[in-house]
Amino acid sequence: MEKYIDEAEALLLHTYNRFHIVLDHGEGVCLYDIQGKKYLDFVSGIGVFALGYHNEEFNQALKDQIDKLIHTSNYYYNLPTIEAAGKLLKIAEMDRVFFTNSGAEAVEGAIKAAIKYAYLKDGSTDHEMIAMEHSFHGRTMGALSVTGNPKYREAFEPLIGKVRFAKINDIESIRMQVNEKTCAIILETVQGEGGIIPAEAEFLKQVREICDANDILLILDEIQCGMGRTGAYFAWQKFGIRPDIMTVAKAIAGGIPAGAFLMTEKVAQHSLVAGDHGTTYGGNPLVGAAINKVLDLFERNHIIDNVNLVSGYLEEQLDLIVRDYDFVQFRRGSGLMQGLVLDCPAGDIINKALENGLILINAGANVIRFLPPLIIQKEHVDEMIGILRKCLS
Ligand SMILES: *Cc1c(COP(=O)(O)O)cnc(C)c1O
Repeated sequence: MEKYIDEAEALLLHTYNRFHIVLDHGEGVCLYDIQGKKYLDFVSGIGVFALGYHNEEFNQALKDQIDKLIHTSNYYYNLPTIEAAGKLLKIAEMDRVFFTNSGAEAVEGAIKAAIKYAYLKDGSTDHEMIAMEHSFHGRTMGALSVTGNPKYREAFEPLIGKVRFAKINDIESIRMQVNEKTCAIILETVQGEGGIIPAEAEFLKQVREICDANDILLILDEIQCGMGRTGAYFAWQKFGIRPDIMTVAKAIAGGIPAGAFLMTEKVAQHSLVAGDHGTTYGGNPLVGAAINKVLDLFERNHIIDNVNLVSGYLEEQLDLIVRDYDFVQFRRGSGLMQGLVLDCPAGDIINKALENGLILINAGANVIRFLPPLIIQKEHVDEMIGILRKCLS
């Protein structure tokens, strides 16, 4: 493997410190490297492979669509994407969707829609947004502007200047940043990269109230926490509130690069119009077929019921780890999106886990993150916990 890794390091731009394995294929909740070593995968390509690897029905749907039509451009209609739009809007309780190629691009579109909405109200171009500290919304310049992590931002400033940062679950910190120029509040319903930090019900309710009182748009980024991961299709659906705009990506197309931003009819009628936004690939027939099949399989295989069944067990087992190891401070998360907060860097443990055939990842320096495929069973949790305990010991 070292030969290939050296080759990769000579060719690829060094923007990642990659783990030293070369992956070859996957089956269910396991990945295999090119030497045939098996890994239990509790990352699923950062929450992408919700349905597990080598799902024959999903793969067949892609193959069929490849043989029919892969791409058309957005100047024409295609059936898979019309169907996918209908299904996605239904589960998301939204009215309009724009398909993108990635999560960051979905965030870009959401930001543009919010700015345009405010522009149409008063014709001014100095609107502000409020985003959260420790948030992550992507690496493009707009998404980076609302990403509250100085490490990612610093070298690229100035970004979109009119972003103010507040603290998640601290409603006063939001109130302090709201003014007559605020056009949107953007947050992850469960912060992912920032360390698996769920927004609290009361906080979300109060943010919604502030938005309603001031005609500010609430943008919820569901790219990591959405698509069933927390035990509802979208994490906000457990809280009795609804965003004005939401973003999805990661699990939505089972590994085919895709995302989307969705909005209510109110926002759609008063924001982006023909010429304001576009994409060459977004929502092409291949992507449409992928999203369609993912959504069909979610429903038919009762994926969300499985999340609710297994996540309680995962939480129990992680809580026992917190009890047994002093340097594991606490667990936090929702559904199959969990984090163990350590009082030391998580890197060594994650590397050890990999040696022992378990794929884990961090979220921030001190948090071990768990984002397994949503099809996992209790026995996979047991296997994972066994390896993790060995590594922690
Ligand atoms: C991954 C992620 C993004 C960015 O998605 P990309 O597809 O990597 O551009 C944005 N927001 C959240 C919450 C994410 O987890």
